[in-house]
Amino acid sequence: MIKHDVVVIGGGLAGMRAAVEAAEAGADVAIVSKMHPVRSHSGAAQGGINAALGNREEDSPAAHAFDTIKGSDYLADQDAAEAMCEDAPKQIIWLEHRGCIFSRLPDGRIAQRPFGGAGSPRTCYSADVTGLVILHTLWEQLERFGVKVYEEYFCTALAIEDGVGAGVVAYNMRNGELELITAKATIFATGGAGRMYLKTTNGYASTADGMGIAYKAGIPLMDMEFMQFHPTTLKENGVLMTEGARGEGGYLLNSEGERFMFKYAPNKGELASRDVVSRAEWTEILEGRGVNGCVLLDLRHLGREKILERLPQIRELALDATGLDAIETPIPILPGAHYTMGGIETNKWGDCRVPGVYADGEAACVSVHGANRLGGNSLLETIVFGARAAKHAVEYIKTAPDVKPSTRTLQAEKDRIHELLSRSSGTRAPQLRHAMNVTMSENTFIFRDEQGLTKAVDELTRIRKEFDAGVYVMDKSTTFNTDLVSTLETDFLIDASLSLAAGALNRRESRGAQSRTDFPERDDANWMKHTLAWRQDDGTPRLDYSRGVTITQFDPQVRTY
Ligand SMILES: Cc1cc2nc3c(=O)[nH]c(=O)nc-3n(C[C@H](O)[C@H](O)[C@H](O)COP(=O)(O)OP(=O)(O)OC[C@H]3O[C@@H](n4cnc5c(N)ncnc54)[C@H](O)[C@@H]3O)c2cc1C
Repeated sequence: MIKHDVVVIGGGLAGMRAAVEAAEAGADVAIVSKMHPVRSHSGAAQGGINAALGNREEDSPAAHAFDTIKGSDYLADQDAAEAMCEDAPKQIIWLEHRGCIFSRLPDGRIAQRPFGGAGSPRTCYSADVTGLVILHTLWEQLERFGVKVYEEYFCTALAIEDGVGAGVVAYNMRNGELELITAKATIFATGGAGRMYLKTTNGYASTADGMGIAYKAGIPLMDMEFMQFHPTTLKENGVLMTEGARGEGGYLLNSEGERFMFKYAPNKGELASRDVVSRAEWTEILEGRGVNGCVLLDLRHLGREKILERLPQIRELALDATGLDAIETPIPILPGAHYTMGGIETNKWGDCRVPGVYADGEAACVSVHGANRLGGNSLLETIVFGARAAKHAVEYIKTAPDVKPSTRTLQAEKDRIHELLSRSSGTRAPQLRHAMNVTMSENTFIFRDEQGLTKAVDELTRIRKEFDAGVYVMDKSTTFNTDLVSTLETDFLIDASLSLAAGALNRRESRGAQSRTDFPERDDANWMKHTLAWRQDDGTPRLDYSRGVTITQFDPQVRTY
């Protein structure tokens, strides 16, 4: 049996930041990751990370908090948003002192670019490869502290003994063994759930695993209906063109060559919040002003030099996928599934409802993003709340009694996987996953209504039942059985999708990324509250609205850009 004080599930930014914090505090900490940490989706982050560094007089953590809360359409918990924005400059300096290379101003200070929904330019960046640069910085810190990494271990279940977290069960993908990893504190940092949709900017591993594991163990998911659709993704493959492209001055054009965003956001234009820009693009397309089902991202006026210096990666990505060179030609783009605002319910220290269980990063819902996340706030969330969750975990293990090794959870997982592998016929997971992707993309996209959402809930409930009744894994091998792993991921994705669709159906208002054509207004009188989804025995969610929104100093206002 493997045993550590603290086990972190996930080796992205949220997981590594938590592990480094725990290691610095002297805890025996390990990371469990289904892939090598530097291959995590965090490495794809392009545009940057927000912090009010004080480069500009008008900027401050309070201004950052205001933008975040306004961006969230007033659903974020304001104390959590304030804590994040307050910690932000310290965390940037922390990264910098550990060797993270940020792009610079001529006078040597860290450069900051404008990003959507922000009152002043506060997005720190490393060209357009920010996530990768921070990821490697943290990896070096893991090496420095000798943190043990269980790589290519797929976590399948959370162990709870006597009401407290007792570690996890993980499937060793190299030899097919299930292993019990006992720990007093478990931190889920398993990333987002973009793979619920047919097209997404997310990597293949963003499959809601931590959300599904916590949910199955009796921990609620919060605000799942709020899925972010990023305004600029490639039609061909859903790959992201960073918001930094508009931050650097890029235009959005319709078929008439018009910069249409000023009709929808007179002050901010292309740099309005993501939900606003995505809806505007989709409206242009629906009203017949699209270009082959897209709108255009035009960077030509920025000039070759600036594009090659600030946006080299996206130019190449677009060139590879479309054959078009952004230096010479506008790039056709569409809104695409990008970020899961909802996730495992936590407080602002990453605590879940079960003692000894924590979550941070995209897997968690703190909530700092509320109904719509600002670009650059997610990388920040991983760093700030990674550190905060680990701080609490390290305090917790000092006084928590030893946990009982959960051999019963291990046995239950062995039985479950054995049963999955022993079936010789049934429904195949890829078929169910495809059906899920289709209904999610058709019925829970940018504009939603009662009819479509009801269809999604019905279809997903059917998919849930069919999966449980007898999904069938064709590959029986014990070495890198990707058929089995993908089936387990599909299981988690179905749970996440169903809680998203059910939450969206029940929330009869429009707020942030949830846009109901049948309830077009925000309804603060009835809906200033979070959605909690609890998993019932039949796999469907029970919705609960007992968690209100924490308001400190920012009264809800009409949101215009
Ligand atoms: C293309 C793209 C660009 C982005 N650009 C920006 C940006 O510029 N600025 C910004 O603020 N945000 C950006 N975001 C969002 C941001 O990058 C992510 O929200 C953030 O990096 C998530 O970090 P994470 O550590 O929570 O998860 P991830 O980086 O996704 O890491 C998840 C980890 O969990 C592990 N894992 C998952 N399931 C299991 C399991 N069952 N068992 C074991 N391990 C598991 C994986 O191996 C992985 O190591 C971008 C996102 C995308 C997709």
